[in-house]
Amino acid sequence: MNYISTRGTAPVLSFEEAMLAGLARDGGLYVPEAVPVLSRGEIAALAGLSYEDAAFRIMRPFIGATFGDAEFRALIAKAYAGFGHAARAPLVQIAPNHFLLELFHGPTLAFKDFAMQLIGQLFQAALGRSGRRVTIVGATSGDTGSAAIEAFRGLDNVDVFILFPKGRVSEVQRRQMTTPSEANVHAIAVEGDFDTCQALVKDMFNDFAFRDAVGLAGVNSINWARVLAQVVYYFTAAVSLGAPERRVSFTVPTGNFGDIFAGYIARTMGLPIDRLVVATNQNDILHRALSRGDYTPDGVKPSISPSMDIQVSSNFERALFDAYGRDGAAVAQLMAELKAGGFSISQGALEKLRETFLSGRASEAETEATIRRLHQTTGEVICPHTAVGVKVAEGHLGAVPMVTLATAHPAKFPDAVERATGLRPGLPERMADLFERPERMTEVANDLGALEALIRERTGR
Ligand SMILES: *Cc1c(COP(=O)(O)O)cnc(C)c1O
Repeated sequence: MNYISTRGTAPVLSFEEAMLAGLARDGGLYVPEAVPVLSRGEIAALAGLSYEDAAFRIMRPFIGATFGDAEFRALIAKAYAGFGHAARAPLVQIAPNHFLLELFHGPTLAFKDFAMQLIGQLFQAALGRSGRRVTIVGATSGDTGSAAIEAFRGLDNVDVFILFPKGRVSEVQRRQMTTPSEANVHAIAVEGDFDTCQALVKDMFNDFAFRDAVGLAGVNSINWARVLAQVVYYFTAAVSLGAPERRVSFTVPTGNFGDIFAGYIARTMGLPIDRLVVATNQNDILHRALSRGDYTPDGVKPSISPSMDIQVSSNFERALFDAYGRDGAAVAQLMAELKAGGFSISQGALEKLRETFLSGRASEAETEATIRRLHQTTGEVICPHTAVGVKVAEGHLGAVPMVTLATAHPAKFPDAVERATGLRPGLPERMADLFERPERMTEVANDLGALEALIRERTGR
């Protein structure tokens, strides 16, 4: 299985190389040269399997010779062993023909654990063979950083540095990053906002001398291995509801378009998904793009669903690549226009996107009202991101079962949930002592030189 760049000029890579590279050298994103298709029989045979067994069968065709079968099975088993639910991704019914897919039973209580826990294991295995050591550096507004730290803590061939904006992440998110005590974990509080952190990371990747010296690697949501891990739960959910005999639709609370793109891959692999509904909060660039063809960022407005507060949705580039008939030059042109302000999607490409994707947006007031109403009518307490999904999904209910992805545990966003329901959601038992554990972090100014010096010192490289 080979991987090609959405901008058409970077080298073709194996699964292992694409996973370790993250971003392509031409600025594009890696996608499979051809997406493997599962037969109806193969999809039907997933019924009744454990999450891990299903994951093996679904991901195996994508990894080529990178891992042997027994090794890959063992890595998958290790990745999901720390989840707090035997089903890993259980379904809960909230209304006639409307279901929640609970993706928050991992160690940091958000769906990002599904991908991060797996790539922690895959990195470790791939690097262990070659004796290579890498330095993972990432910027986070909260969920990605905690998931990455949890996945890479204590692993031998990896140092992990996570930059977060000082004072601008929730207390649960901060403590999930600052309480792991392993020496290879470095939580860095940056004087500035999320954009400051992201710019520093970008600058480090563009400093080639530094990049090579410390073996910089990226695990942000454009990493293909992360998308792949997320394909699995679309299959397990749809098969539980009767696929391949019955079609199923999904609504996905969306920011960087990574999670919903995994649904698109599942559909391309032959899973009978009727529609994929993009749900955005008031930062609705994707809803505007899919309804009007206009992709113009207009500034992030902070919301109560902060993990979806984005201006530029990186993984959307992968969907555009297919919508433009896999024309890398056309995608590169759009991205150049984006740098200069924005672009419009051609009529043909828009029609292609709309064969799969619908979209909707929920305001702040609608999000809060949805948390309150769902609690009153079903007893379920949901996080604000999930509430955006539920609200948008309600506009698309019909004969086809709808699954809304519940992307985080309500206890991760207790203030918004308490405002809506009057109840303060508690952390699950297994992490109830989070507020007693000692914290450890390093504060840095917005200064690239100082940060690089710190990373060199800590890694001894
Ligand atoms: C990251 C995240 C999202 C958005 O997912 P994308 O893959 O970036 O679209 C939604 N909800 C929560 C809780 C998240 O952490």
